[in-house]
Amino acid sequence: MCRVDGCYRAPTKFSHLCEYHRNVDRVHGDPRQRGVTKAELKPYQNVIRDYLARRSGPRAEAVIGRDWGCVSRRAEEFLEAANRGRPQNVHERRAAQIIVSVSKEYNAMEIAILCMALGYFYADQPRRWASDRGFQYQAARMLRRLAQGETDFKWRPDGTMVRSSAKRCAPSVTRALWSSIEATNFVGYGIQIRREIEKGRELKRKDHIADLREILGPGAFAVKGEAA
Ligand SMILES: [Zn+2]
Repeated sequence: MCRVDGCYRAPTKFSHLCEYHRNVDRVHGDPRQRGVTKAELKPYQNVIRDYLARRSGPRAEAVIGRDWGCVSRRAEEFLEAANRGRPQNVHERRAAQIIVSVSKEYNAMEIAILCMALGYFYADQPRRWASDRGFQYQAARMLRRLAQGETDFKWRPDGTMVRSSAKRCAPSVTRALWSSIEATNFVGYGIQIRREIEKGRELKRKDHIADLREILGPGAFAVKGEAA
């Protein structure tokens, strides 16, 4: 039986997983991981954008530009080394091409906002991630979708084009992309931003309790953790 709970399909040869879950595992990094959609990520991107606009220091954009610049320069240098005849791994090469393509299409700030939103999402909905690997694959996939030629599209019967999911790519390309994302710290910044926002909410809740207490009078109710 397939290793995934609740799945009763037969495993394939050389695998503990059925055909379906083996496929999900390859694409999403974990047999139980569901793909993240743009719509799911959008509210988080808005929160990050809003936070950066209201609270970041004047040099934040420069820091982000520098961090992404490092990653994108490294990818360019990697591709140039191949032109000088250095043998290269085809998957690492594809990952570098994706980074360079994303850099051409988007500015560092937009890329950072996407990654920060993923970090926020990661911390905000821990149950949405089957595992860290599942999350990392989603992050790499969302970044890859920004690159030219990395999205599949279909034609509707009425002749309009719909962009659909990211094209398939080898797990080692995904892993190489994740290590580039990790090098920027953007995901970590997103997690920290969430913590900061939550702290503000917690303070507001405390204010509210203090107000309520004032209205109801001392001794009206005990708050958890303050035994009478
Ligand atoms: Zn299965």
